[in-house]
Amino acid sequence: MYLARTVTELRRWRAEQAGRSVGFVPTMGYLHAGHLALVRRARAENEAVVVSIFVNPLQFGPAEDYERYPRDLDRDLRLLDAERVDAVFAPPVEEMYPPGFATSVVVSGPVAERLEGEARPGHFRGVATVVTRLLNLVQPHRAYFGWKDAQQVLVVQRLVADLALPVEIVPVPTVREPDGLALSSRNVYLSPEERRVAAALPQALFAALERFRAGERDAGELRRLVRETLAGAPVRLEYVSVSDRETFTEVDRVERPALLLVAAWVGSTRLIDNVLLDPAAP
Ligand code: AMP
Repeated sequence: MYLARTVTELRRWRAEQAGRSVGFVPTMGYLHAGHLALVRRARAENEAVVVSIFVNPLQFGPAEDYERYPRDLDRDLRLLDAERVDAVFAPPVEEMYPPGFATSVVVSGPVAERLEGEARPGHFRGVATVVTRLLNLVQPHRAYFGWKDAQQVLVVQRLVADLALPVEIVPVPTVREPDGLALSSRNVYLSPEERRVAAALPQALFAALERFRAGERDAGELRRLVRETLAGAPVRLEYVSVSDRETFTEVDRVERPALLLVAAWVGSTRLIDNVLLDPAAP
């Protein structure tokens, strides 16, 4: 497995892949089985696989966890080597944002401005900017993103379409713990008690999903059910939303595919999760 630390090294590796299909998995490292699901999908669909590990300062707010975000490059490299990844791009910050760096990519509209966009000002500008730069550097045929961060998938799909970037965005289903909690690098912040409490989040989503599958189409009722399920749990709910998957506006009735999304605080850790509400699903 080749480790590129600089743009020059990455470009050299990329030039050697001429004629091969290249799959790309961008991450912030501290890898878990959710990341590895993306890597396996990329491995299955491409001749060469490259993973980036970069904790992107641009996508963290000033009061957020950039400094304390978990990092363990040696462990990440071992995991990726075991998945037969061809190359890892793990640049220092100065390599991604050299002195004088002054360009941002801003996606506008509901997809970037509601929910996560509203709760975390500047977050999607940081995501869109780093993803655009990474896609230009790596020039993959396919790039893999997790539905765990559903709004991020939609923002990236929007920018790829709008800027006509020659890449296929492949979303991958959320990988969960046995009790339903979505895997996240941030789960390490949870104390054992908070970790138990955190399972209430997916359980509330699944309760609403079950009601949806039984025929409930009233979005207000589904949002209410999530709030009710979480009412007894020591979590601070930030939002519950039923958003149209295409327009990302709040819906009253689910007649087309929609996402049921939540953000909540468990102690000092902010968690997000979502499930797809698809009226056409059996
Ligand atoms: P991160 O390192 O948190 O920036 O995540 C890198 C990629 O892995 C993003 O596309 C995430 O959506 C995806 N990802 C994170 N957690 C999961 C999960 N539990 N299941 C599937 N994909 C995930």
